[in-house]
Amino acid sequence: MSDWVSFAEIKRRVTLEQVLRHYQIDWLRRSGLHQYRGRCPIHQGQGTEAFHANLERGVFHCFACGAGGNVLDFVCAMEGCSIREAALRLQEAQGEGSVRMPWVQSGGTEGRKLVTKKRRDNPPLGFQLNLDRRHPYLARRGIEAAVADYFGVGYFGGRGLMSQRIAIPIHDPGGRLVAYSGRALDGAEPRYRFPGGFHKSQVLFNYHRARAAGQDRVIVVEGFFDCMRVHQADFPSVVGLMGASLSAVQKDLLADQFSGVVLMLDGDPTGSAATTEIAAELRPACRVSQVLLPPDLQPDRMSADQIRDALRSPE
Ligand SMILES: [Zn+2]
Repeated sequence: MSDWVSFAEIKRRVTLEQVLRHYQIDWLRRSGLHQYRGRCPIHQGQGTEAFHANLERGVFHCFACGAGGNVLDFVCAMEGCSIREAALRLQEAQGEGSVRMPWVQSGGTEGRKLVTKKRRDNPPLGFQLNLDRRHPYLARRGIEAAVADYFGVGYFGGRGLMSQRIAIPIHDPGGRLVAYSGRALDGAEPRYRFPGGFHKSQVLFNYHRARAAGQDRVIVVEGFFDCMRVHQADFPSVVGLMGASLSAVQKDLLADQFSGVVLMLDGDPTGSAATTEIAAELRPACRVSQVLLPPDLQPDRMSADQIRDALRSPE
């Protein structure tokens, strides 16, 4: 891959329409001659008027999350990468003989078209963000420096989807980096930002490391910080659902590798309802036990001692 990249050349050759098509954004409604609007594919909120795109000018703007710009800014926001990375990806995709990122293929007389095939897997990211692993937010959340290094989490000060957030690397079951999730430092919504093309249901956070720990039993928590805090309490065999539900793929990943699962979801009503549901789904496949936390407690707010105590006697 050549490191030389011409932003102007890429903007001339790749249209916003092609890129929207690549991401299967087919829900935008026409609101003017070249104007489209609809739900924002970047922050994925509920507002159906938030995202505006002008296909003639090749620009977009979201009134809810503030994302906006040209075709490069769009790819950068969707992928959670830098502008330069977005440009390199588009350039590579446009180049002849590109195999790793088959974004474009030869079309008939129209020339090159973007591939619009529905894809459920998470392709490797192919780059890494430069993060500040000693940002004070991590210490405030009780994450020790060694644990921040182990998980590779840190503050991202650059431009793009992860801008001014704590970026958390997410890997596929084989240990390849496939995405970053960005945690807001303040109360900004969404609290966690994911790239638009990322399929959360296909992975478990920390799965490849938990597997490497080589234990029969795995602890399942909801969030990234829960996972880091449980690891920090000396339980390296821990994975995060990135939510309070279990997908079919996640279930297979667990049953494939572990004979015992300990559910330690949040103590709130959502977490306890999910515990019951997930336990029922997993029971045919493996031995399931559960740690039921009080309603006001979740693993990321527990001390290492509290976590150890809770895990000593799961039901
Ligand atoms: Zn938005």
